[in-house]
Amino acid sequence: MAAIWTSDWVRAELTEGIAVLWLDRPPVNALSHQFREQIGGAIRAVAASGARGVVLTGAGGTFVAGSDITELGQVVAPTLPDLIASIGALAMPSVAAIDGTALGGGLELALGCGMRVATERSVLGFPEVTLGLVPGAGGTVRATGLCGAVVALDLIATGRRVTAAQGLALGLVDRVVAGDVVAAAMALMGDAPVRRAVPFDEGAFEAAAEALLAKAKGGAVARCVAAIRNAVALPFDQALAAERQMFLAACHAPESLALRHVYLAEHQAAKVEGLDLTLARPLARIGVIGAGTMGRGIAMACADAGLEVALREVNAGALEAGLAAIAAQYQAQAAKGRLSGAEAEVRVGRIQGTLAVGDLSGCDLVIEAAFEDMAVKRTLFAELDAALGPDMVLATNTSYLDVNEIAAGVRRPERVLGLHFFSPANVMKLLEIVRAARTDDATLATGMALSKRLRKVSVVVGVCRGFVGNRMLQARNGQLSTLLLEGARPEAVDAAYREFGWPMGPFEMQDMAGLDISWRMRKAQGLRDDLPDALCEAGRLGQKVGLGWYRYEAGARRPVPDPEVDAVIARIAAERGITPRLIGAAEILARTHGPMVAEGRKLLAEGIAARSSDIDVVWVNGYGFPRHLGGPMYWADQSVI
Ligand code: NAD
Repeated sequence: MAAIWTSDWVRAELTEGIAVLWLDRPPVNALSHQFREQIGGAIRAVAASGARGVVLTGAGGTFVAGSDITELGQVVAPTLPDLIASIGALAMPSVAAIDGTALGGGLELALGCGMRVATERSVLGFPEVTLGLVPGAGGTVRATGLCGAVVALDLIATGRRVTAAQGLALGLVDRVVAGDVVAAAMALMGDAPVRRAVPFDEGAFEAAAEALLAKAKGGAVARCVAAIRNAVALPFDQALAAERQMFLAACHAPESLALRHVYLAEHQAAKVEGLDLTLARPLARIGVIGAGTMGRGIAMACADAGLEVALREVNAGALEAGLAAIAAQYQAQAAKGRLSGAEAEVRVGRIQGTLAVGDLSGCDLVIEAAFEDMAVKRTLFAELDAALGPDMVLATNTSYLDVNEIAAGVRRPERVLGLHFFSPANVMKLLEIVRAARTDDATLATGMALSKRLRKVSVVVGVCRGFVGNRMLQARNGQLSTLLLEGARPEAVDAAYREFGWPMGPFEMQDMAGLDISWRMRKAQGLRDDLPDALCEAGRLGQKVGLGWYRYEAGARRPVPDPEVDAVIARIAAERGITPRLIGAAEILARTHGPMVAEGRKLLAEGIAARSSDIDVVWVNGYGFPRHLGGPMYWADQSVI
């Protein structure tokens, strides 16, 4: 074995006449400019070495997980297409030996080799579309050549990842091995790859494209479709050049800049200045208090992550109802093929119901999801403190209440924090982690460790009414009644929101959640909002009763505008002497989104949110703010609101 190239992140050695080129830039071999320079140098050394073949492989359990996202759009030689061209120009066969992730530019690099061998655990994919991009180093063209246009479109326009075995079946890799992937690649050297020609099925391709475009937001999917059409229709080099043009243009387009902002913001949000994450307690068993809407979802989220759960209710009836609803949800998931029947049973089995607080003593963390009432929560925390000892980490899922006040009644308030899940808690990605005034580092780190275990996107926030998300939501919704009284119709407001990119408008959302939630909250605070209060008083509580801001036909979820609501609006407007006028989408958005952003700025000034980008993470992952617009704060910065 003779070394033919050594640099910081790349080494190449000659073994039995074959050059093995190791890529070693921790943690994930991201293709930065400096790294590409070193790979280019190594390829030149391989060319001059007299080797009869080259194996390209990654050290550290990953092949190449993609490009360096902070450098996207910079064109500095050698570019990734340059590197791939230089591999193609070698007068020897090349094999990529993949162990771990080959994603984005990493997969394109592998596709630039003559053949590919992958270990069983390897994962392949083109995540570019999730960043508003199309692959830009031959991915669309080579994947289409290897797998056919329909498969390439599915992979590239969805960004979904495939296992090595699936990659083999689709034609992306030539062999899957259990053992030493480099040895397997060396053994393959000189073999001619077996390729199946996949005929172009235009009808199937166009149907698939249409279905993807119908669901797409932003322009990235359309670019993927266009690149693959080129791959089919144009000569290889022209298709490559066209793809590259599209990639570079997309890199500088607002959509990709916004999506990259959110991507980086989510990673940043997982870090807290000065916090040692290793202080986290080990987590195996979680206590959940309350088997209502949220308790059920939280218990399921924990069971899904392999944690044991002790679920506590106040009486046998409520407990049984909660456990039955959980079992039914798992059965429904199994019926839809999302998990096997056996796995569903395992997960149900992880959740043990109890009526005794003492049964939570073996837990590592207890999350309270009882009624939203300070007295209930204070009594409960005192009970937990007495029964479970002063060291148990206690979390509250409160939506609005003061976590400092909840913590004040226990012996060691340092162990109390807020874990604000979103409904349904086993589905929604966001977790607001509320650091109360006295929460200590170990407790905060434990909350963050739980979030990571549950695969949530978490944001650490401070204590205030409604934290980051709900406080801004109230600001966003503050003008809604006034807008309606001044002449905007509910369906026009909802349409303006959808047009903006929200999955639904505020009135449809309130109908879905139930109008009684805010009604109860207003009553508890001695507040009135005449218009929604009138609807609630008339029994219009939302979808669950078939009547809310809209009318719903029996069993249907489609909102139908209702003249009775118009009549209520008209009556209250007349009482107040308001003459209705036409209100356009721009005004609707300005009068709702403006206050939302202003509240975000206040949260930053008050230190409740640590970073503007944290607020964006909350809104994209918890409230459906369109990801391709980057979150409310980013969007406002771009649009100068
Ligand atoms: P829910 O009314 O559906 O469920 C509450 C459950 O807690 C009930 O089953 C009740 O019997 C039980 N309970 C009450 N006191 C208890 C006690 N001492 N011990 C054990 N169980 C007890 O309410 P929910 O919607 O699940 O909300 C629970 C909490 O989560 C509230 O603080 C709420 O603000 C918060 N939250 C709700 C949502 C949401 O969308 N529903 C979202 C985020 C946070």
